[in-house]
Amino acid sequence: MVRTYIGLGSNLADPQQQLRSALEALGRLPGSQLAGVSSFYASDSLSPGQPRYTNAVAALDTSLAPLALLDALQAIEADQGRERKERWGPRTLDLDILLYADQVIDEPRLKVPHYHMHARPFVLYPLAELVPGNFCLPDQRPLARLLAECPFVGLERL
Ligand code: ATP
Ligand code: MG
Ligand code: MG
Repeated sequence: MVRTYIGLGSNLADPQQQLRSALEALGRLPGSQLAGVSSFYASDSLSPGQPRYTNAVAALDTSLAPLALLDALQAIEADQGRERKERWGPRTLDLDILLYADQVIDEPRLKVPHYHMHARPFVLYPLAELVPGNFCLPDQRPLARLLAECPFVGLERL
């Protein structure tokens, strides 16, 4: 098993319930075990005019390979009514692989660490609840430094 961190987000159809259902589904994935869940946060959408998001981060221990994990996450998104129309449109559920152990993955379907996690407060603050204070990304950047450079703006801990 390896430790992964999954970012959860929803801004449609009862977002908090969407996250709770998704967490249950993560816990049921084959060869996987939910190891921790952050608080839920409300965050302003990055796209103007969209409803606010509910976000959280989960620690998932898994023996699924990276692309198998991505397939499983996309199946959970589809189960919960995710429709892919415009990029960054409102969605019932978004599940992103933030970190997969300390691996750097650069494949057409999967980039890990998630390409924009270093600058997203709704990822960094919940992640910080789940890791030791000296935690670093695979490129050795300390999470504490990323947090210091990422104001707690547009974010509300629920
Ligand atoms: P953003 O990537 O800015 O958070 P998004 O999550 O809304 O936007 P999606 O529509 O969920 O984007 O995903 C688009 C594609 O991103 C997926 O089809 C998937 O193949 C790819 N992808 C690349 N890296 C990752 C990753 N680390 N986690 C999840 N999907 C990824
Ligand atoms: Mg996303
Ligand atoms: Mg996504």
